[in-house]
Amino acid sequence: MRRERDRLLLIVSLLASFARAQEPAQRYQPVFLADYQGEHPELAARYGPQVEPLLKKLPSQVAVRLGLSAYEQGFRYPITIRFVDHLAPHVAHALAGVTLDVSGGRIRQEFEVSLDDLAKDPMDFELLLAHEMTHAVLTDSTGALPSLRFEPWLQEGLAEWASGDGEMRLRRARETANESPAADWVRDIDAPETGKSYVQYYLAIKYLIELNGTPGLQAFVRLLVQGVPPKEALRRRYGLGWTDFKSNVKAYTIATLSRKTD
Ligand SMILES: [Zn+2]
Repeated sequence: MRRERDRLLLIVSLLASFARAQEPAQRYQPVFLADYQGEHPELAARYGPQVEPLLKKLPSQVAVRLGLSAYEQGFRYPITIRFVDHLAPHVAHALAGVTLDVSGGRIRQEFEVSLDDLAKDPMDFELLLAHEMTHAVLTDSTGALPSLRFEPWLQEGLAEWASGDGEMRLRRARETANESPAADWVRDIDAPETGKSYVQYYLAIKYLIELNGTPGLQAFVRLLVQGVPPKEALRRRYGLGWTDFKSNVKAYTIATLSRKTD
């Protein structure tokens, strides 16, 4: 498995450098493929009409939040969005995926929204799309490679923050303080993911903002987009080693969850 993954990363890396060398001048607007034929036609009918207007505003909204250049002109690489019942196995994040067209050496993103998951776990559709759009914009900005290497805390923490979803999650976590005290939410941020992890991933990003404001975080994101490995970027931007960062995030998580509000 591991060797296969390494080989995949190598191929991705070669493709990304190839794609970088041939920096596309053209920009691509996201295309919604309304070809859904699945088990949830009522959800497709409810959410389908919301997709186009959201595709017009969300890429720029999250890109500006991340401190990247605006996305009004579209994506560097082609991107399609469609509803499905179940996500394809190649999908890298919960609801969005990057497909590499090996034959052409091209990067292309396929963004899938699982209506089956949405039926089981209803959530705000705009927040959901904004979260996934953050992954899509990061992947597009980095030319796929470094973003595939972002660990979940970083990839999901940025998506929770840029989409606004993180605040909602934090509010819910605070409401459950009685049955689940602050310490229950605390683990190493590089430990395997659990249902509670996203709260702490989000707080890891909030902690960085606390240290050096939103412009500081945006400068950190720009380092990542330039291909600086996350741990190196943390050291350069915040003077923090990985072990210190992890324990500071734990302490910040307990302090934040122990307060009722900010
Ligand atoms: Zn995500």
